[in-house]
Amino acid sequence: MQAEFQELETLLEIQKIDLDIMRATKKRVELPQRIAVMRLRKKRGEIQAKLDQVLELQKKSDDDMTVIEDEDRSLVEKQERAQELIDAAGSDFRKVESHSKEMAGAAKRREALAEKRVTVEAQLAKIKGVRDQLEGAIAASEAEEARLRADFEDEDNALAEHIRTSTAQRDKLASTIDPELVKLYEKTAAKTGGVGIGKLEEDTCGICRTGIEGGRLIALKAEAPLGTCPMCKRLLVVE
Ligand SMILES: [Zn+2]
Repeated sequence: MQAEFQELETLLEIQKIDLDIMRATKKRVELPQRIAVMRLRKKRGEIQAKLDQVLELQKKSDDDMTVIEDEDRSLVEKQERAQELIDAAGSDFRKVESHSKEMAGAAKRREALAEKRVTVEAQLAKIKGVRDQLEGAIAASEAEEARLRADFEDEDNALAEHIRTSTAQRDKLASTIDPELVKLYEKTAAKTGGVGIGKLEEDTCGICRTGIEGGRLIALKAEAPLGTCPMCKRLLVVE
């Protein structure tokens, strides 16, 4: 490819900045606080799933309690009604006996309900304990995340700012040389993990360090000032 030597110097300068941007980007992603935050969130998701199950259990127990209370209330009314009928029955012993049986039946049923209520109350108390524990764990995890975020925000912002200014600087440099040359470098760099261009040092590729001999060296030198390393396929500045 046709290129001015000065353009290749600029390209090497652009590559230096690009590698620096890559390092800063990697550092941002790998900030230990960011990784810790991701772990916290994963764990918190698991706790939340458990809490959802507990809330579901609580709803069931609350429903059980409502059923018990409703039935107990209707039994109380039944007892009151029976008492009124007994009071009004006067000397009608058959009526008195029948309503007294109703009252006894209601009382017996209420006793059974009271036992059930104790069981459901115990269940609800147990659920509340677990729920408090899980909600406490979630709150602690959120507080820890806030602390980590405050801690890494400064570092993260500084890296982001560095990436912004470096990108502007490399774009400005890139605008001064042949866009096709920039494209060729970017394509090569993408294929080779970042380093797309180097220098031929005597008869050695400055990047993969392969010695280039005989006809290959003659062919490469004929491509000056810009050739391709026959081994690693990177661009080589040939002086
Ligand atoms: Zn090479």
